Amino acid sequence: MINPDVIVIGAGFSGAVIAERFATVANKKVLVLEQREHIAGNCYDYKNEDGILVHRYGPHLFHTNKQHVWDYLSQFTDWHCYEHKVLSRVDNQLVPLPFNLNTLDCLYSVEDARKLKALLFENYGEGQKVPILTLKNSSEPLLRQLGQTVYDKFFVNYTVKQWGCAPEDISPEVTARVPVVISRDNRYFHDFFQAIPAQGYSELFKRMLAHSNIELVLNCDGTQRLSLNRDTGKIYFDGRRFDGQLVYTGMLDGLFSYTHGELPYRSLKFVYERHKKAFYQPATTVNYPNEEAFTRITEFKHILPAESDYTVIVKEYPQNFVRHDPERDIPYYPIFNQKNTKSHDIYQGLVRQFPNMTVLGRLADYKYYNMDDAVDNALKCFDRLNGAVDD
Ligand code: UDP
Repeated sequence: MINPDVIVIGAGFSGAVIAERFATVANKKVLVLEQREHIAGNCYDYKNEDGILVHRYGPHLFHTNKQHVWDYLSQFTDWHCYEHKVLSRVDNQLVPLPFNLNTLDCLYSVEDARKLKALLFENYGEGQKVPILTLKNSSEPLLRQLGQTVYDKFFVNYTVKQWGCAPEDISPEVTARVPVVISRDNRYFHDFFQAIPAQGYSELFKRMLAHSNIELVLNCDGTQRLSLNRDTGKIYFDGRRFDGQLVYTGMLDGLFSYTHGELPYRSLKFVYERHKKAFYQPATTVNYPNEEAFTRITEFKHILPAESDYTVIVKEYPQNFVRHDPERDIPYYPIFNQKNTKSHDIYQGLVRQFPNMTVLGRLADYKYYNMDDAVDNALKCFDRLNGAVDD
């Protein structure tokens, strides 16, 4: 594409949605540059030799309460109804997670469970969700004790493995994603819409990007083709001035040549295993909060059924993110605490020097977005930019 109106860097959810919107709604010529050899970012999935749809970068379970996000994506996919269930291996048994009244019954005597249930109802109310760090600080001594037990058995070691630090040393919203639930609902998510793209995420992305106004270039590090003049706020692409809209969805530190230091992220190593058996475990995901080095095992056949004598599982080993180390150079989670958010703010200040550049998505915003948040933000961003572009 010689003269694109819009350049999008990154073909994950944020990049694909904004590219699709500019192409379809605004009739703009969009050039999408993707560093990897495939689209769909970390949602990428593929069918293996057994016909099992495998998520290459770990389990991605779609859930949302946002009707407009659901409607938007439904243009590009059919859905397979799927409600995610997780078990946690604690005290040599597999118990439901999030910790709920059923989990309580598994770990306590009938009498103790009855007492604790009554206290939970009285102090928080039936159906409520209580972050573990809140329960652990309850003013009611027995609930405080329960909070400490749940923290010790389910959270502290898992979090140390996952983040390299204790729950208190990361943003409280991280552990609040998996609250203690005062009900008998064993589902991992409680959103109204829960489903998996029936033909997979890669196919969904393929359809989003299959527009005559979109040109997609894979294996292309967009930052190498950009040059940013901070004195003038002008953007150059392949050496020529680019006055269209640039949407960047990668890490901000790399975009600005690490002038203000590296932003830390957490990475994962995925170890896949193929087993000759119908199923490996009784639920899609089993968490291993304590002894093992991995945090969880996911079995894909539970997500989308497949007729096969084999099954595929993946074990997740958290690790530090290390740039340019092929074993560790995929950034999965921003490590957002006060210090890192401050460094990110500095980079965002640099972004503001470029009036026709917008940054978007989990990596660029340095936020722990779920997939539906990423889609929602990209849709809103398009509405904002489209108003501006058409002025
Ligand atoms: N968590 C935990 N034990 C668990 C599951 C989760 O301590 O068995 C904590 C941990 O800090 C984790 C966070 O809760 O990073 C969020 O969990 P979630 O399952 O939402 O993580 P994701 O699926 O995004 O990796």
